[in-house]
Amino acid sequence: MAEILVLVDHVDGEVKKVTFELLTLARAYGDAAAVWVGPGYEGAKDKLAEYGAGKVYVAADEELTSYVVAPKVELLAQLVADKSPAAVFVAATGEGKEIAGRLAVRTESGVLTDVVGLQEGFVGEHSIFGGAIVTHAKVTKGTPIIAVRPNSAAAEASPSTPEEEQVSVTLSDAAKGARVVEKVVQEKGERPELTEAAIVVSGGRGVGGADNFKLIEELADSLGAAVGASRAATDAGWYPHTFQVGQTGKTVSPQLYIAVGISGAIQHRAGMQTSKTIVAINKDAEAPIFELVDYGVVGDLFQVAPQLTEEINKRK
Ligand SMILES: Cc1cc2nc3c(=O)[nH]c(=O)nc-3n(C[C@H](O)[C@H](O)[C@H](O)COP(=O)(O)OP(=O)(O)OC[C@H]3O[C@@H](n4cnc5c(N)ncnc54)[C@H](O)[C@@H]3O)c2cc1C
Repeated sequence: MAEILVLVDHVDGEVKKVTFELLTLARAYGDAAAVWVGPGYEGAKDKLAEYGAGKVYVAADEELTSYVVAPKVELLAQLVADKSPAAVFVAATGEGKEIAGRLAVRTESGVLTDVVGLQEGFVGEHSIFGGAIVTHAKVTKGTPIIAVRPNSAAAEASPSTPEEEQVSVTLSDAAKGARVVEKVVQEKGERPELTEAAIVVSGGRGVGGADNFKLIEELADSLGAAVGASRAATDAGWYPHTFQVGQTGKTVSPQLYIAVGISGAIQHRAGMQTSKTIVAINKDAEAPIFELVDYGVVGDLFQVAPQLTEEINKRK
């Protein structure tokens, strides 16, 4: 089977869960070949082996991560030319999508971004118009470059002993056009990262104020979940904008999404409607969110959320 290149998404050697999902997907359609860029490979190699990378292309040169995305694109373009992979998979994160677009131009290939599912022949599934329509699309030119949303596939371990090949690329001057001058590690709480979390509990305008968001946090903590918010809640200053879910916020696709006091506007749906199971708590039985849910609770969130948290905590 032909190789499928999987660009490893990592922060200073800590591999993101989406990479394991991409490796699992790649194994279903070809030979998974991870592409490691930057320092830190030694600490991460066991994880790539655990999720079935048959090969790892290691480009450890620190210079490749000293600039924004262009060096990764040049490296991948070289690998596409040298190795003729069947496809290239990247995570549909902000950086991943930029890499995918640039790589498609470089390699004169078609690109699919924000893919939420994949079928034989690299047919990508997209969820559009706030989840009202599912489209299937296929690259018809060059090497399929596919950016897959985190949580679109389950990561399944399949231990391997990957072959390693050191690779390097001579960067063009253009690739050195924007240098990274500083990296600031964000304060990380105990909760999982919003776009990677298996469970997300989000609060909306119905929560009624910043202090009340502790109800959302307590429910999230009882489930080991990330906290999200609607734009109404973030615009009101009740919760930071980085936690906004929706068209102009983060896109999440967890196993379980609990919307608390959120009406279900199309712009909110755009960021969460591919969640596997959706639960809503809303006092208005006519709220549009109920058109989307697997389970709905019509009730006052100030009654329901604490009881739910208590009940979940009791069962631990
Ligand atoms: C260009 C554009 C981009 C946008 N991008 C986003 C985006 O990325 N994300 C996003 O979320 N929105 C976005 N919006 C805004 C979006 O249109 C909605 O205004 C917003 O999602 C509404 O947030 P909400 O559901 O929290 O508030 P509301 O629509 O006001 O809904 C509040 C809900 O809480 C319920 N409620 C009230 N009190 C209680 C209670 N005590 N118990 C239970 N339920 C209660 C109400 O019944 C109601 O359904 C965007 C809008 C535009 C125009």
